[in-house]
Amino acid sequence: MKKKILLITTGGTIAMKYNSPVGIVPDDEFVDHLRSYPQLENLAFIHVAEFSNIPSPYMNSELMMRLVRFVEDKIEDYDGVVITHGTDTLEESAYFLDLVLETQKPVVFTAAMRSGSELGLDGPRNIVGAVRVASCPEATGKGVLVVMNDEINAARDVVKTDSGKTNSFITPSYGLLGTIDPDRVIFYRQSTKMEKIKTKEIESNIDLIRCVSGIDGRYIECSLQHHAKAIVIEAFGRGNVPPTMVEPIKKAIAQNVLVVVVSRTYTGRVLPEYGYKGGGSMLQRMGVILGEDLKGHKMRIKLMVLFGKYKSVEKVKKYLLEKPI
Ligand code: ASP
Repeated sequence: MKKKILLITTGGTIAMKYNSPVGIVPDDEFVDHLRSYPQLENLAFIHVAEFSNIPSPYMNSELMMRLVRFVEDKIEDYDGVVITHGTDTLEESAYFLDLVLETQKPVVFTAAMRSGSELGLDGPRNIVGAVRVASCPEATGKGVLVVMNDEINAARDVVKTDSGKTNSFITPSYGLLGTIDPDRVIFYRQSTKMEKIKTKEIESNIDLIRCVSGIDGRYIECSLQHHAKAIVIEAFGRGNVPPTMVEPIKKAIAQNVLVVVVSRTYTGRVLPEYGYKGGGSMLQRMGVILGEDLKGHKMRIKLMVLFGKYKSVEKVKKYLLEKPI
């Protein structure tokens, strides 16, 4: 039986066309175009709802929260939801919804690397793939999914790995959840790291600082001046920083700012292995939280959600220490 799928558009390259001489820009006709999309008619009963038509670099945590409410308001009437989004911040929005949305119904993000004016469009195929996954009973209870290039990935782990290629979205550490073949959608595995944080509020003032060789404490100082509630540091390797950052980190902790360290490496966890000044073991003893295998931009999203719910550093710290996922 055909399922009822809500297709929510937010913007991104999938909803853009080339406009000479300025370049690729949002296309006002995308939503109308989707409404008369012949490939979708046979797949499901589709209702298209426009949330926004913005490039995804314009996305922020307030808009993400509004998108959560938009989905929550409507999902009861549908079997599943597909959200089209720009690829640049898709990882963050998809993970935000993964954490906050309470539904067990399939919620699938998709996008395009190529605008509507280019040869070899990936957008239409990705939308069809996403609708097929959202209509698939097996997609129930699997958290927010990201469908691109005939592949299904978990929002928590998916990474945009290439700035231009259509096979940009992969899960480098753990692999895809499933594939979309012409005959059927196949799930091979399921993430065991699904997490729900029920909140109506968020805290946007969370910073992310990436370590580079020779970095000093100026960015931490800047965060403190702007009263950040927490600072995520993308540290080296297992979670190490140079000695020049140790005093500023101590200062942040003394001012009751939560400091969470993750790794700037492509994959892998942080661990308190190194005891030298700035090593992960020393940082942990100073009160820094080691943030497991989450990428910096996703840890920032998680802290926005956690601070929205729990407000205080103590409670967020307790949550992270008790649920290290
Ligand atoms: N800059 C675009 C966006 O994220 C890129 C894309 O959608 O692929 O909106």
